[in-house]
Amino acid sequence: MSHLTLVSNRLPIRINEEGEVERTTGGLASALAGAGIPGSFTWIGWGGVNEEDIEDREDYEKKLKAVGVKPVILETDEFDAYYEGYSNSTLWPMLHYMKDRARFDPEWMEGYRGVNQKFAEVVAKEADQDGEVWIHDYHLMLVPKMLRKLRPDLKIGFFLHTPWPSSEIIRALPERNEILEGLLGCDVIGFHTYNYLRHFRSCLLRILGIEGESEGLWHGDRMVRMGVYPIGHNSIGFQEAMQSDTYREALALHKKRLDGGKLILSVERLDYTKGVPEKLDAIREFLKKNPEQRSQVNFVIIAVPSRVGVEEYNLLAETVQREVGAINGDYGEVGHSPVQFLHRGFPMEELAAFYALAEVCMVTPIIDGMNLVAKEYIDCKRKKYDARAGVLILSEFAGAAQEMSHSLLINPHDTQGVVKAMEQALAMSEDEMWSRVRAMQDRLARNDAGAWARHFLGDLDASGTPEHDPA
Ligand code: UDP
Repeated sequence: MSHLTLVSNRLPIRINEEGEVERTTGGLASALAGAGIPGSFTWIGWGGVNEEDIEDREDYEKKLKAVGVKPVILETDEFDAYYEGYSNSTLWPMLHYMKDRARFDPEWMEGYRGVNQKFAEVVAKEADQDGEVWIHDYHLMLVPKMLRKLRPDLKIGFFLHTPWPSSEIIRALPERNEILEGLLGCDVIGFHTYNYLRHFRSCLLRILGIEGESEGLWHGDRMVRMGVYPIGHNSIGFQEAMQSDTYREALALHKKRLDGGKLILSVERLDYTKGVPEKLDAIREFLKKNPEQRSQVNFVIIAVPSRVGVEEYNLLAETVQREVGAINGDYGEVGHSPVQFLHRGFPMEELAAFYALAEVCMVTPIIDGMNLVAKEYIDCKRKKYDARAGVLILSEFAGAAQEMSHSLLINPHDTQGVVKAMEQALAMSEDEMWSRVRAMQDRLARNDAGAWARHFLGDLDASGTPEHDPA
């Protein structure tokens, strides 16, 4: 395999308060860290600081080079238009079927285009002759075409970490043609599920009039392959985390605190796609219907702050906090609040302890590209690490639902249906819980982040245009 260049919006590093380079985990960085990508690779992306805030550019670039990364340096104005604007206020809601939340501003698109061009130029300069480039996610959908123009020798792959919605949604995007054309600069385009791929194909047909086979299409004289690569979690990382002292200590501490009560866990970034208000509706209804359970249950909601400072997200956090307070006001007792809202992130070792202890995990997004929490929860149900039996309640609108048929699948909009699943989960025997866990666990551990990366990179390596007569 030739030298690989990874490209993502965010680099897996940050500069700490002492001015030192620190590796970060979470999101794409931790998925790729668990992927154990073979050989050396260069990672290109935004480093978390803008041009105006970098005192010594040469020194900054040198420090990053030492850890194998190359920053794309942006000015604050262009970053805002590209990231806060087009990526997160136009594309993110559109890709998640939330057209009403999407805002359209031609200046944002200009910023997006300009930043994608900058990324393409940095990659064109860095990538080895005949090398392979793997571009990630919706922030960078124009890069493949731009890069191909600069460097036709490269093999270019793109993976989308969000859903790809129906063509009815994409048709409403003013820049739909440009985005689709941008992606067609690839040799391989990857999606989490077959449905996303199918929607992408129908966009090509309805918007660009290009008809493809299920696995690829001819674009000019090039073959563009399309494939399904469901991302896996960092299974090795979680297994290691469960052997740590931090895990043991957290397990013992929370077990003591729960004092025989049941733990019903949920873990997510606080994003409007994750369905937290809908989940709270179901929790309220459950507590109303089941008074005998009120003192027994502990709904622990770990909600990692996301896009802090963006008004919509601040409002969501306030709404959720208010409703948690109201539920506890209505159904709490002296010394016991049934809902605990933890508005912060936890390291893997502590998260693994929560997963291991929880009798139920509620993963109830309105829509989610994949959802790794669902996979991590099942993988952490290991008796050898003193995990308790548990059952997963999973939204049918998460990509993960397609691989996890032994969970209790729910529609997050159907409050009564979610309540029923909660009642079923809490009444389930340990034997049934373990048999459901076992039915999913081996497959999940086998199809982890590493397998996902190897699968995609194997196809990228094998891609290329066979001899043919396009006519
Ligand atoms: N996560 C974490 N600490 C936390 C909560 C979550 O490290 O306190 C991680 C979690 O282990 C998972 C990721 O954040 O790997 C969330 O990924 P997911 O696919 O569920 O959702 P996303 O945030 O990517 O939409």
